[in-house]
Amino acid sequence: MTAIYPGSFDPVTNGHIDIIRRALCFADHVVVGVVSQNVYKKGMFTQEERVGLLREALSGVDGSERMEIREFSGLLAEFFDECGADVVVRGIRSPIEYEYDLAQTLANRQMNPRLETIFLPANPAHVFLSSSIVKEIAAFGGDIGAMVPDCVQSAMRNKRQ
Ligand code: ADP
Repeated sequence: MTAIYPGSFDPVTNGHIDIIRRALCFADHVVVGVVSQNVYKKGMFTQEERVGLLREALSGVDGSERMEIREFSGLLAEFFDECGADVVVRGIRSPIEYEYDLAQTLANRQMNPRLETIFLPANPAHVFLSSSIVKEIAAFGGDIGAMVPDCVQSAMRNKRQ
């Protein structure tokens, strides 16, 4: 089974990595799909930088040989077929996020009836963790060491200089 885990990953956090590890437990192959840009969110890192950080952060993860990081732009419903995927994986931190993602999933299914989605509940330790919060804390010089891999911490430090 091939699973796609799509997102902005701007930047990758320990919450994302937890979802990828868990997806690797039930999928033979996991494609981390990095969107070129999120229409509603202003990005900090370029797509290339986000991919580079994911690559570094995931290099030591068990099963990383069964994982692939791919860039995509446009519709997930189309990227799904391009990857020959069986399922989309999304992490869910709250009922509000579920509501939003459910609407997206239903729209995606309308475009591509083959597309199924598995929602993984966030690890309780990561429920309040988001790329936006990490960026906000880092902008004011706060400690993000427990929230992101080391490579992200130093990349964010470099961005601020
Ligand atoms: P998007 O802009 O597509 O939501 P994100 O990079 O913010 O992209 O998130 C990608 C996926 O990871 C989404 O399914 C999101 O819910 C999930 N996710 C983000 N942060 C966490 C976290 N702390 N724990 C679990 N899942 C998360």
